[in-house]
Amino acid sequence: MSHAAGPNANQAGPFRSGWFEVKLLDPGVYLVSEPGHVNCFLIEGRKSAILFDTGLGVANIRDVVEKVTDRPVLAVNSHYHFDHTGGNRFFDGFAIHRLGGPLVQQPAPSDLAERYMAYTQRLLRAWGPYREADDLYFHLLTAERMIRPLPEGFDPASYRIVPSVPTRLLQDGEVLDLGDRRLHVMHTPGHSPDCICLWDEDHGLLFGGDTINTGPIYAQLHDSNLEDFARSTARLSAMSDAVRRVFVCHFGRMDEGPALLREVAEGFERLLAGDVDFRDAVDCLNYPVREACFEHFSVFVPPS
Ligand SMILES: [Zn+2]
Repeated sequence: MSHAAGPNANQAGPFRSGWFEVKLLDPGVYLVSEPGHVNCFLIEGRKSAILFDTGLGVANIRDVVEKVTDRPVLAVNSHYHFDHTGGNRFFDGFAIHRLGGPLVQQPAPSDLAERYMAYTQRLLRAWGPYREADDLYFHLLTAERMIRPLPEGFDPASYRIVPSVPTRLLQDGEVLDLGDRRLHVMHTPGHSPDCICLWDEDHGLLFGGDTINTGPIYAQLHDSNLEDFARSTARLSAMSDAVRRVFVCHFGRMDEGPALLREVAEGFERLLAGDVDFRDAVDCLNYPVREACFEHFSVFVPPS
């Protein structure tokens, strides 16, 4: 009944370090998660593998990935934001959409690292009572949803967002061939101009990046665009009949079905039509936003 957060809390995972959680999701597809922060995905083919996103960079994700696969790994960023690109520096190179190429090389706003570390502290404070209540009443938490303290020896005050230089630029329609698995690059701007999804058509797997999420979808950022978001999510919805599973980058529900694609597209359509109610909220950096709530997700837009 109890959930031990220690290294052997859940036998289902092939490997666990203190900070990352690794879980086999589908043959050749592993969640490599920083629980409560970012979900990265390792996708293996016969010849090579792709790590879709490299996380916050507070611990070496490459070490973990190399314990899971012996194939050469290409790191691919879903977009340029720091929580998806922080581990780029552990790799010899990485790929990003061509619009993200210049963005990922730019210095981040000066207070971003500090604001995010403050969020990790708020998250940990909330976690204690949340987990206690789950142990007693709800029983929803599994290993990949267990929030953990920052890695031992990591000093939050020293966290920096390090710009990185891509070695490969991607565009819509490109195919990443891993041997017996092919991933189609889909450019899905909206959250940021350079967002991509990866689509494994043969296995019906969509890696949604930050275009599809199961908590608040961030459309409030300075380079977010609601019209683009609506177009991108409509495109994903239109292919939903071919999708078996959808994997998303944030929150505890990282593994969804195709119905979410239709629901998110409908949500953006309603947002653009003005057919939603908003409530006041704050994003993870503690900036005020307006939130439109739907059944399985919400959307943040700028404050009025
Ligand atoms: Zn993002």
